[in-house]
Amino acid sequence: LAKNLNIAELVARDTAHHFHPFTDHNAFHAEGGARVITQADGVWIWDAKGNKLLDGMAGLWCVNVGYGRKELAEVAYRQMLDLPYYNTFFKTTTVPTTELAAKISANMPERFKHIFFVNSGSEANDTIVRFVRHYWKLMGKPYRSQIIGRRRGYHGSTMIAASMGGMEGMHGQGGLPLPGFHHVQHPYWYDFGRDLTPDQFGLEAAADLEKKILELGPENVAAFIGEPIQGAAGVLIPPKTYWPEVQKICRKYGVLLIADEVICGFGRTGNWWGFQTLGFEPDIVAMAKGLSSGYQPIGAVAFSDRLIKDFFDKGEEFYHGMTYAGHPVAAAVALKNLEIIEDEKLVERVKDYGSYFAEGLKSLNDHPIVGETRSVGLIGAIELAKDKKTRARFDKPGRVGTLCRDHCFNNGLIMRACWDTMVLAPPFVISKKEIDEMVRLARIALDKTY
Ligand code: PLP
Repeated sequence: LAKNLNIAELVARDTAHHFHPFTDHNAFHAEGGARVITQADGVWIWDAKGNKLLDGMAGLWCVNVGYGRKELAEVAYRQMLDLPYYNTFFKTTTVPTTELAAKISANMPERFKHIFFVNSGSEANDTIVRFVRHYWKLMGKPYRSQIIGRRRGYHGSTMIAASMGGMEGMHGQGGLPLPGFHHVQHPYWYDFGRDLTPDQFGLEAAADLEKKILELGPENVAAFIGEPIQGAAGVLIPPKTYWPEVQKICRKYGVLLIADEVICGFGRTGNWWGFQTLGFEPDIVAMAKGLSSGYQPIGAVAFSDRLIKDFFDKGEEFYHGMTYAGHPVAAAVALKNLEIIEDEKLVERVKDYGSYFAEGLKSLNDHPIVGETRSVGLIGAIELAKDKKTRARFDKPGRVGTLCRDHCFNNGLIMRACWDTMVLAPPFVISKKEIDEMVRLARIALDKTY
């Protein structure tokens, strides 16, 4: 493909016609336009000029089984020939859609028997808000409508998902957050822990949720949502005291607990679900990304039996659904993807290789601009600091992180910058040799940044 491309023309067309998400167009056009990615295999991607890069981010935290899986392409091809589309509204289903619902449920705790399909993580979170607000109305508590998320949480880009999220930049655009969404302290010990131990700080961050619930009136709060590990905030791994305390608070006030597993789900943390690694029991779970390893757009929501029973007992339809919900091709691919994860024992592999990855990251701790490294399973972060001892940041948040990310990119590694936190989440199939290479390339980028 790349051989026949006139890259310069393609890039010019991209610059002329393509409005990219989350992109500073002026800067990127000045740099010559888009880098065109044409091929991939395993943990490696190639651009149209033939440059090879190690994808330390599995695309956008999603290509968990790695690139180049022929069996996923074949399953999509066969499904398109058999049945390219049918809907799941009005009492119909398709074979892969139903099989996928059963497969997801089989890999969850017993209480999650019902799965609602959507096309993305954002839609999963929108679905949850519509459901929980209506659920409370059916339960005779229509005032239980307020939703609490966390600062720097990321739950997607639609109006509701971005309102649940706590990204200030996003809130500045489009009149967000919508009324009824609130944000509390995120469990980011590195930046906010001061002289507290991580465990003390975990309790302090959880207490901010209780404070917010009391301020709003517990009878008005519908749900609390959190990523088990906040990904886009910079891979914030909460102290171990945090989630159990959050769960206790939610139970105390009857607030539903939602786990956004869009990044953590399907093995990223070394267990099938992030809530298993972090030690809490949600009522509702949002998922996407790793469900199909990014080979097809698909997301889902799992609801616990208690909620489903109450909802079904009231005998109401859920007036909600997208044309492509449970799309047979996406479902067939996701189903095969989950089979690959099981057959190749990839969740166990993440747990096993997680310690090797952690050691690799730790070897960077001696670098003059590295303040801390942390990881769980195959998700990790490198904090860039001006002063290692005081954890002081560089001026102008994000400037140094962006520099470091660009050095990586130009030197064969995809590593993302969340402000001045560098993050990594490679495909689960990464080998130890490739982990070594990832760490080696990261060090080169840190040296160039310093
Ligand atoms: N939730 C989390 C935790 C995410 O990281 C993301 C995307 O990065 C989303 C939700 C939104 O998913 P999507 O981009 O598929 O809408």
